[in-house]
Amino acid sequence: MEIKTIQSEEEKLIGKNVFLTTLDAVFNWARGNSLWPLTFGLACCAIEVMAAGGPKYDFSRFGYEVWRPSPRHADLMIVAGTITKKMQPLVLRLYEQMAEPKYVIAMGSCAISGGPFVDSYHVVPGANTFLPVDVYIPGCPPRPEALLYGWLELKRKIQNPRVVKK
Ligand code: SF4
Repeated sequence: MEIKTIQSEEEKLIGKNVFLTTLDAVFNWARGNSLWPLTFGLACCAIEVMAAGGPKYDFSRFGYEVWRPSPRHADLMIVAGTITKKMQPLVLRLYEQMAEPKYVIAMGSCAISGGPFVDSYHVVPGANTFLPVDVYIPGCPPRPEALLYGWLELKRKIQNPRVVKK
């Protein structure tokens, strides 16, 4: 009778301390919590990205403070600003040099659709015309809080791949 009690205590402890998962789920959990953004900006929305990097918004609490100066060290591109036709091949080159798996956030009206300059002869009508955009953040410009919200949506997508498939 006493032995039975000990076993049930052990089972209770195992139930509280052991959990099973897949390797993919562990990788996605780690990826979602350690995105390394490329230090990069195209126009006025980039000023909001810089503001977001300050202590007021404290992105470090999510594990996202490691801004990388080299695309080979980064796995997140935040397209912040107007994409001109002159800059588009350079943005694409940066994206191609980034580490896999990599993600793209289109921040602001210009990056989403060309914004107020969409009718101009020299502006690309959105990052999605040449990059696989994961999250769109509307606004002109979006505030740092919006960037943070979009970033956390990206984390949710990475950690729940079924959301992405749907
Ligand atoms: S969306 Fe507005 S704030 Fe952002 S780059 Fe375009 S014009 Fe500037």
